[in-house]
Amino acid sequence: MTNVSQAEQVLLDQIRLGEEQAWSQLVNRYEGRLATFARARLGQKHDCDDIVQETFIAFLRALPRFRGECNLETFLFTLLRRKIIDSYRRNAARHICLIQDVYNSGTSDEGPSDALDCFEAGSPAVSWYARNEEQADRQHAALEQALYDLVNGYKKQLSLMELKVVEAVFYGHLSNADTARLLGITANRVGVLKHRCIKQIRGHIDQTAVSIDSDSTVFESMLTDIWQNSRLSCPKRNTVGAFLLETLDKDWHDYVDFHLNTLGCHYCRANLDDLKRQNAENNSPRSLHVRIMESTIGFLNKPT
Ligand SMILES: [Zn+2]
Repeated sequence: MTNVSQAEQVLLDQIRLGEEQAWSQLVNRYEGRLATFARARLGQKHDCDDIVQETFIAFLRALPRFRGECNLETFLFTLLRRKIIDSYRRNAARHICLIQDVYNSGTSDEGPSDALDCFEAGSPAVSWYARNEEQADRQHAALEQALYDLVNGYKKQLSLMELKVVEAVFYGHLSNADTARLLGITANRVGVLKHRCIKQIRGHIDQTAVSIDSDSTVFESMLTDIWQNSRLSCPKRNTVGAFLLETLDKDWHDYVDFHLNTLGCHYCRANLDDLKRQNAENNSPRSLHVRIMESTIGFLNKPT
């Protein structure tokens, strides 16, 4: 029994015969939703077009063996999902934070977020993306803005414990229990703060024309994706520098210390290491020599 509609079966038969126009028609029908899904999963920075292209190549390669076990959309999303997992695997820095190597709640074998499993082809999230292709980009932007406002609000009010909690939960993708252990508070308090944060974000979204999936697992995995891709709470490089020089206020020093050393954000630790290296070079006698040479060379009298 086949799950492919009669019209799509005709299209498939033509594609099997090598008809270019039929192939173009199929690509045209599915490329938008696949690209939207890839962008929502990987963020704008990744080369999603390449992944979609590879998905269509995989489709053609698999076509001789395809017997209509599922409909075409599901089949394409399954292939795309495999490509996305491959892309995560290719990425050496699979974990966003050191703490994810310690606690298992923040990760799975398949990528930086085990929420990927929520996106099994055929799941409500996949169907949502398929149905709401044009909306997904706007939805992503609205969520990013809401999260940005939330993080900035915490920073302005110096609500740094709240910031640490939601950062551990969404950016670090830790469970409530692991977050509680990390911060020395109760899991119940983590739950309350997380709930308040989600309520605020949903409130923000309600004021826009964008509608968001009501499934909480899907919603939370979207927040993690966005936070990880946009690094919403990562301190700026000069703040990391000030941390290194110990010139930050106590509260900020404590927060940056949490981000760098407790959560262990790989991106910010890379900045920290780079700044340490620079400082070491600036303090070395050889570097002084280089600096003197650079600053004086223009004043040398050149032979005419
Ligand atoms: Zn960071």
